[in-house]
Amino acid sequence: MFRPMGSAVQAEKDRQTPGSGPDFRHVTEWIFDLDNTLYRADNGIFAQIEARMTDYVMAFLKLPREDAYARQKDLYRRHGTTLNGLMREHGAAPDEYLHYVHDIDLSDLDPDALLTAALEKLPGRRFVFTNGCRDHAARILDRLGMAHLFADVWDIRTMGFAPKPEAPAYESVVAAGGVACQNAAMFDDIARNLVPARKLGMTTVWLKSDSPWGKHGPLMDVSTGDIDHETDNLTQFLQSIRI
Ligand SMILES: [Mg+2]
Repeated sequence: MFRPMGSAVQAEKDRQTPGSGPDFRHVTEWIFDLDNTLYRADNGIFAQIEARMTDYVMAFLKLPREDAYARQKDLYRRHGTTLNGLMREHGAAPDEYLHYVHDIDLSDLDPDALLTAALEKLPGRRFVFTNGCRDHAARILDRLGMAHLFADVWDIRTMGFAPKPEAPAYESVVAAGGVACQNAAMFDDIARNLVPARKLGMTTVWLKSDSPWGKHGPLMDVSTGDIDHETDNLTQFLQSIRI
């Protein structure tokens, strides 16, 4: 596993000295993944969505549950999202699918005042860049109490259904936002999603976790040069950076 910043010592130093950590003074465009970046999705919300994905695949492809689950995983691995696989291989209609799988219970998701305050201080524009859908993102951001902080949510539709980490996804959102990549920072819990962002000149931050979710999906080589910073705590990281 790579450790671009080189050491836990640096991470600890950043944590202890607010505002004297990594230099982000060149950044005016702040781009955040949603799930497992702005909130923890792997302690319930992903499980709900995944169960509904399997339900959908069962009904759509008329498969028993076990086969539908295996088929869904296979589509996800090969196409980046289950939806993409269903669209490309089976002609599924995206709106019905997105509405169905994101119709979940968010009552366990609490407002995050500390992260909201840290986001609020970032100078410039903030965006959400998610392989999910805009309505789901809006509900999540609303629950977290940070919906008002984002200039836009770029979702799978913005990307023309080519998900991260496919290169066209990044070209689409950069065009949609008129983003100057040299002045942009991107945060994502899936390291491979940062590779195309780095290629475009963005500063990249990996929200590392032990969650198995980050290891699913298409494989892509990630090298130390693709990740400028890594952290296991977004709030503390944002509190520590120079802006
Ligand atoms: Mg994520």
